Amino acid sequence: MNGPFILPVRDIVRRPGEMREHTFTVTLPEQWGEGIVSFEKGSNLDLDVRLESVHEGILVSGAADAEYVGVCGRCLIDIARPVEVEFQELFAYPGEEETDFEVQDDHVDLETLVRDATVLALPFQPVCQPDCLGLDPETGERLTASTGTEQAAPIDPRWSALQQITDQDGTAQSRAAEKEES
Ligand SMILES: [Zn+2]
Repeated sequence: MNGPFILPVRDIVRRPGEMREHTFTVTLPEQWGEGIVSFEKGSNLDLDVRLESVHEGILVSGAADAEYVGVCGRCLIDIARPVEVEFQELFAYPGEEETDFEVQDDHVDLETLVRDATVLALPFQPVCQPDCLGLDPETGERLTASTGTEQAAPIDPRWSALQQITDQDGTAQSRAAEKEES
């Protein structure tokens, strides 16, 4: 068996009470998450995993640290935020009851477990800051609480074009996100 999330457990299989700890980093082979923010392909995921041999199988528990990137759902500026998630699952020995997670060939594959936990931690409505004011509906300019230079800056013509789209089309936000990246 091969893969960045696969750990050997041969030395603790069927030895209840034995425990092993693994600390390692995985470079994501693909993007995780489909929304306005996601974990990028090539980004790092730091894992702290404890494997405990119990009567029914291997109890896996641990924590994952990663950083998601994307855009603020209100003002569309780029954002990046660290997240830490915890997970726990029993990987049962095969041949007994059918389960989603099983010990296979003396290994456990943590990918589905870790992926589900981290993707679930992505915010549904990410914001650059809790009180982000979003975009000015008149000008399409980013509203800020601060005074001065930023508000006085000329409006980017791309934004005013986008603002016209917004008036007719609810998907303007995702289009604007694409523009911002290019
Ligand atoms: Zn914002």
